[in-house]
Amino acid sequence: MSHTLPKLEYGYNALERWIDAKTMEIHYTKHHQAYIDKLNKALEKYPELQKKKVEELLKDINSIPEDIRTAVRNNGGGHANHSFFWSILSPEDQESFEGEISKCMHESFPELKSYQDFKDKFEEVAMARFGSGWAWMVYNPKTKKVELLSTGNQDSPLSSGLIPLIGLDVWEHSYYLKYQNKRNEYVKNFWSVVNWKKVEEIYLNAVAK
Ligand code: MN
Repeated sequence: MSHTLPKLEYGYNALERWIDAKTMEIHYTKHHQAYIDKLNKALEKYPELQKKKVEELLKDINSIPEDIRTAVRNNGGGHANHSFFWSILSPEDQESFEGEISKCMHESFPELKSYQDFKDKFEEVAMARFGSGWAWMVYNPKTKKVELLSTGNQDSPLSSGLIPLIGLDVWEHSYYLKYQNKRNEYVKNFWSVVNWKKVEEIYLNAVAK
């Protein structure tokens, strides 16, 4: 079984108020596809690993044979991160959030008084990532709290025992056509397409495990 692109639940132009159709198309059909192709190539010699979900490979990255570990970390990470990313975006306007995730966020970040405070903090994390990488809100099963962090390149929080709830790609390929050097505008506009219903669903699943 080889890895394939997940189905996009919306058209390339669906998220225009945040990102342009051309960027979406290239990002999905070229960048994401390239990670998948390289992951499949890396797994060619290891039929038993081909049966595993990419998330499983990343959770146990140190068990991956050394000769392909870096390839799986980079390209498996690229595949998992992008699949996750597409899944938490929505063309529907849903700026506000509520539910259990909101409670957990208040408990986890007592210093943050509003959604705006949270957004500011997340944007800080995204802007502080030097070079290519991702900004995340993750669930930490050990502390039962959510955390904000960034990872470099295509490193997945799964490899550190953390469960992604929100992920934002801050590689230049994800915004350069529309925003050029203005990563801060790209990051600020991100909130208008975050699918909080989906985030709540992922959070409830994570807590139930
Ligand atoms: Mn990307």
